[in-house]
Amino acid sequence: MFKQSLSNLNRVGQTLAGRLKKLNLVTTLDLIYYFPFRYEDFSQITPIKDLQPDQQTTISGKLEIINNRRSWRRKMMITEAVIRDQTEAIKIIWFNQPYIAKIIKPGDNIFISGKVSADETGFCFKNPIYEKTKTETTHTARIIPLYPLTEGITQKQIRFLMSQVTHQANQLGDWLPEKIITNYKLIALSEALEQIHFPKNWQMLRAAQRRLGFDEIITVQLHNLQIKKELKNKKSYPIKFSQKQIKSFVANLPFTLTAAQKKSAWQIIKDLEKSKPMNRLLMGDVGSGKTVIAAIAMLNAAIAGYSSLLMAPTEILAQQHFQTIEKIIGEKSVSLITRTKKKIIKNQKIIVGTQALIQKNIKFDKLALVIVDEQHRFGVSQRKLLHDKSNDSDIIPHLLSMTATPIPRTLALTVYGDLDISLLNELPKGRKKITTKLVSEDKRGKAYEFIRQKIKQGEQAFVICPLISESDKLGIKSVEQEYEKIKTQIFPDLRVAKLHGKLKEKNKDEVMQDFKNKKYDILISTSIIEVGVDIPNATIMMIEGADCFGLAQLHQFRGRVGRSTKQSYCLLFSDSGAIKTRKRLETLVNCQDGFKLAEADLKLRGPGAIYGTQQSGFLSTFKIATLTDQILISEAKEAAIKIIENISQYPLVEKKLKKFQDIIHME
Ligand code: ADP
Ligand code: MG
Repeated sequence: MFKQSLSNLNRVGQTLAGRLKKLNLVTTLDLIYYFPFRYEDFSQITPIKDLQPDQQTTISGKLEIINNRRSWRRKMMITEAVIRDQTEAIKIIWFNQPYIAKIIKPGDNIFISGKVSADETGFCFKNPIYEKTKTETTHTARIIPLYPLTEGITQKQIRFLMSQVTHQANQLGDWLPEKIITNYKLIALSEALEQIHFPKNWQMLRAAQRRLGFDEIITVQLHNLQIKKELKNKKSYPIKFSQKQIKSFVANLPFTLTAAQKKSAWQIIKDLEKSKPMNRLLMGDVGSGKTVIAAIAMLNAAIAGYSSLLMAPTEILAQQHFQTIEKIIGEKSVSLITRTKKKIIKNQKIIVGTQALIQKNIKFDKLALVIVDEQHRFGVSQRKLLHDKSNDSDIIPHLLSMTATPIPRTLALTVYGDLDISLLNELPKGRKKITTKLVSEDKRGKAYEFIRQKIKQGEQAFVICPLISESDKLGIKSVEQEYEKIKTQIFPDLRVAKLHGKLKEKNKDEVMQDFKNKKYDILISTSIIEVGVDIPNATIMMIEGADCFGLAQLHQFRGRVGRSTKQSYCLLFSDSGAIKTRKRLETLVNCQDGFKLAEADLKLRGPGAIYGTQQSGFLSTFKIATLTDQILISEAKEAAIKIIENISQYPLVEKKLKKFQDIIHME
């Protein structure tokens, strides 16, 4: 029943089904697990005579009159109604929703929920929510849920659909063992799923949030514990530290390693010496120099006679890593394998590629180390898949994950409980603070002039736009439009290129290469260049529609500049006048510390926002849990330990865990 398509619901036609799909809502279960991001309390019913200006409340009364008229400007349809309760009458106004006069008629008893407006003619409600009076309301006279929406879907529609499915939640079995539920005083899953959408009161809502948050955290904890358990029975090739060669390699680098780089490299080398599989996360802010650490680890393995693999999330990054490593280790020292490219050097032990490496099922000779860049999750089974043909199925490669996405401590402990962490908490010497400015529209011309000057001095600029091409999302800038405008009107004399996900891999690659080789002055791109891209000569990052992005993501964009000793600039543009948005962008202006920004993002937008699009899959498991709730986290951990010992006794837990792992490994 929970796998049933949403098209079976009342009033879901093809169009609506399509829009729901955009929100990843296909089945009944998807919908039940689509949680509100906010609630409004309209549970209080106020007599009309007691209404106060700006009060958010509900009134209950009889509809006396309802009429449509055109406004004097003839641009707008206005629906006017009068509602009376035992105490008084009040005017209700709706704009551009003339159909309302067909739905509710004089004589109907209705609820109106909204904010009381006051003007010269007295009090009224403007565009309030309305609903015919009944005992079980959906939209009014209760705590009402507000959902994240997409174009063409209204809160009312989602609530209406939700009201058709939530009562089915009681047929959903509870996957948690009963002992755990009683021990930690949790409410039943079915009840939590009903209350999270249509809470009876705030207390029930909190109980529902606690239960569902517990579920999320314990799932991840179980997963981490299971990985730890699996790793216990596995072995990796111990890689001898070739001290002399590595020392001389480091001494010959064009720069001196930072103290943090030295420490991390050392931790990794020590791990690699063991036959216990390394499971380590190298976390370092943008530009902190992770690639060279990867190079050191791979070189060390190669000298000892083992292969290693560096996997990047995109072809652009794979290409970049390939070049960087060739540059520092030496030509013909590296092979490159992506979906579209192959430069295989015979007997080569250092291989760079994309995830295509796994899919192709290529096997490598004595593969001892896998390094995954900007992509955290890599299961034991995937490590096994990559392992060579040596028949010893208990051997898996050591794993190093690298990420520029700083993770607040609480989150790291929960999410990466299975990993050891190395931290690059300093930037290479000589980096200047990137000057970040929120630029108002009237200074746009000045900003362009500034960019021109910098380009005249031989530097380069990025321009980021939220969209690829023009859409009906009015006012949001797209790469195609800006490309035309900048190329023909703003900088007809400069060399401008564009980059976005719809270009062919080959073209993307060419554009990146040409930009790197200074054949272009300006690169206009979507968020595709969010992570990893390293072009030290670029010093300007201009971001259009900055409000469309999360703080951590904006910080990633900013990290594309400031990668040399030259002064760099990040210019933020936003049409949004909302104070909240301004404040959020100001945080970025005033703070260059990725960890602090991630912390701020976690508070403002929840864990899913910390990662741009890349890792959303994994962190989007945390829809409810705030991850700042230490008590809940430790309770869930304690429970996970109890369960994992006898997990085979709990088939529902096993099933849930398997499903979770399928999702995260598909990222
Ligand atoms: P990220 O951590 O963002 O992946 P990269 O590895 O791409 O950073 O390094 C960013 C830039 O800094 C590269 O151009 C790299 O050559 C340079 N770099 C790395 N380590 C140092 C260092 N210790 N001193 C100076 N420059 C460095
Ligand atoms: Mg990188």
